[in-house]
Amino acid sequence: MIFRKKKDEPEPEKEPVPAALKKDKVKRCDVSGCSEPSVRTVSGEKARKGGLSIPESLRKAHLCKKHYKDFKKATKKDRELERMGW
Ligand SMILES: [Zn+2]
Repeated sequence: MIFRKKKDEPEPEKEPVPAALKKDKVKRCDVSGCSEPSVRTVSGEKARKGGLSIPESLRKAHLCKKHYKDFKKATKKDRELERMGW
């Protein structure tokens, strides 16, 4: 019996490219001066009320991790104030 070495070994499976590396598909943070990839989309109006500099023309704002945190902090404060009857 002759054992022949397989010439056509299966190629190692390519790892899927993380979305963050597909530049054309990734939305960037809409806060002016920030170019981080966005992780969340929020209402532009709310984001502006939360103190983020989002262009007036945007109805929806894409936020990066950091700015989403800021946004959440800001909106949380709002809700607390509302609860207290301000
Ligand atoms: Zn940002």
